Amino acid sequence: MTTSTVQTSTDSATMTSFDNVIINANLATFSKQYGFDIYSDNQEKSTPYGQLMNAAIGIKDGKIAWVGTHEQIKPHLTHYKNDQIKDVDGNWVTPGLIDCHTHIVYGGNRSNEFEARLQGASYQDIAAQGGGIVSTVSATRAANEEELFAQSEKRLLALIKEGVTSIEIKSGYGLDLESERKMLKVARALGDKHNIHVSTTYLAAHALPPEYKDRADDYIEQVCQWLPILHSEGLVDAVDGFCENIAFTAEQIKRVFEVARSLDLPVKLHSEQLSNIGASALVAEFQGLSSDHLEHLVEDDIKKMAASNTVAVLLPGAFYTLRDTKLPPIEALRKHQVPIAVSTDCNPGTSPLTSLLLAMNMGCTLFYLTTEEVLAGATVHAAQALGLAKKGKIEVGYDADLALWDIARPADLAYQMGLNPIAGIMVQGKWRETV
Ligand SMILES: [Zn+2]
Repeated sequence: MTTSTVQTSTDSATMTSFDNVIINANLATFSKQYGFDIYSDNQEKSTPYGQLMNAAIGIKDGKIAWVGTHEQIKPHLTHYKNDQIKDVDGNWVTPGLIDCHTHIVYGGNRSNEFEARLQGASYQDIAAQGGGIVSTVSATRAANEEELFAQSEKRLLALIKEGVTSIEIKSGYGLDLESERKMLKVARALGDKHNIHVSTTYLAAHALPPEYKDRADDYIEQVCQWLPILHSEGLVDAVDGFCENIAFTAEQIKRVFEVARSLDLPVKLHSEQLSNIGASALVAEFQGLSSDHLEHLVEDDIKKMAASNTVAVLLPGAFYTLRDTKLPPIEALRKHQVPIAVSTDCNPGTSPLTSLLLAMNMGCTLFYLTTEEVLAGATVHAAQALGLAKKGKIEVGYDADLALWDIARPADLAYQMGLNPIAGIMVQGKWRETV
């Protein structure tokens, strides 16, 4: 490991110009400037986590304005009032965590099915009784905006309490224009109320609604028609689909992606969770932001993802819940230097998980990812998966979205299960009053 030094200005005018400062900190920057290079062939040359010890951060106008050593800022501290200085006493600061694949907005829940399955009911029994995704669609359609907001807010707060400052939220349980709109509006409103960044994703191509039984192409036609409407209302940041034997074909998803492209919207896809029917190849063809799940991904498609700069989003919570045994091709992803992100996939059926820290732990234990990979997967690579150019790193010019942790080493975040060591959360340069 080498210690990186980055030239930053330390003149008095700069050092006294910040709105607030964080001192006495150890930083996991995930910035190449500080030696973060998870794909380096020569690990001796890279600095794990891009870490900086005994460091300090200057924040101005919601941005990271300066990063340097504690010694550099020390002579200037008399310029600042006490409430502008956060002495973190040797604790660790990371970028605010980013959960880049969630379905947290939904009505009802499916604990009754969880219970029934454990008493011996099969998926077919449950489906015959109107269970499965159809029951979530019914409950989501039936809930009004306020009810949907109240139910989803609890899940969001659980994530925020673990240092999540940016989150992706998908539609996909409405499956008609009004209900998809309602979900996306709730997603936006959650971000506004709680002052965190929400990236919304249009996922009407998630499942076939009952009223379109045996008419998947007709439904896809509707999905294509609704997209420009919801986009014109400012509700859509990206477009997603479920490309599987049990959902939609690559040809059907391609029709939706072509509409997305005509609107300049980025795409992503639920890919290769249960089978390989060409999903990741399709995402790569459209230079998609991410391809997600990937248990059945093959090396040819990994090469295509590498060429299109598409992030591999791994979802160990779904793998765990489904008791899956087929691992995503981690070694091949590493070999081709495809950035790996890790997310909760919070959803009522296959991943009722509202802990990104636990998802990180599962990424290590179930998928054999390193602790550096899962932390990068919830910061810098998750930002890339959402197309967020100024989030996910501690670096000058980046948004001052930060999480402060009462830990001795970054690996503690992935190692512990059920202990939340959060000690402070900053969003756009302001500390949250309650964590
Ligand atoms: Zn999902």
